[in-house]
Formats: sequence, structure tokens, C-alpha cells
Amino acid sequence: MYIYISMDDNIKKEYSNGEVTVTWEPQLCQHSTKCWKELAGVFDPRKKPWINISGAETEAIIQQVKQCPSGALGYFMNDKGTDNKA
Ligand code: SF4
Repeated sequence: MYIYISMDDNIKKEYSNGEVTVTWEPQLCQHSTKCWKELAGVFDPRKKPWINISGAETEAIIQQVKQCPSGALGYFMNDKGTDNKA
């Protein structure tokens, strides 16, 4: 039996516009394509970094993050510091 232990386990990346911070946990992503099909100005897997936090207003970003079906995307408001997982 071959067991592969990824060094990518439990990665959590953060992207902040000073108001909201979007978090992304790649190991949870189901590649549903929902985020980048619905808010392409922010989520674009062809780019690096693939999240452009300046690509939309904070409220639009939050609403899109809430649509993530896997929980890979989350966010917190910078002034509160609380996690609001999608
Ligand atoms: S919506 Fe969530 S699960 Fe789908 S591609 Fe985006 S981050 Fe991954």
C-alpha cells in the first residue's frame, strides 16, 4: 500500500482588502467552479494569486464566499476578527 502525505494539508490562505479578509483552504475545494463563474473579477484560477480581493466590492465578495459549497472559502471582517465560514 502506498500512502501519500501531502505537505499541503491544512493550508489556509488569506486575502484582505483592509475591510474583509477572504480565507481559502485548498484542501477543501471541490472545484465546483461556482466562485469563478459567478464572480470572475475576484476569483480567476488562471491567475496567481487566483483571488483578486480588489476585484469587487466587499459585500459582493462576501455574498459569493457564502455560496461556496465546500467550505473552502470563508471570510472575516477585519474590524471584528471573527471567522464567518461560508
Ligand atoms: S466555490 Fe468553493 S469549492 Fe467551488 S471552486 Fe470556488 S472555492 Fe472551490
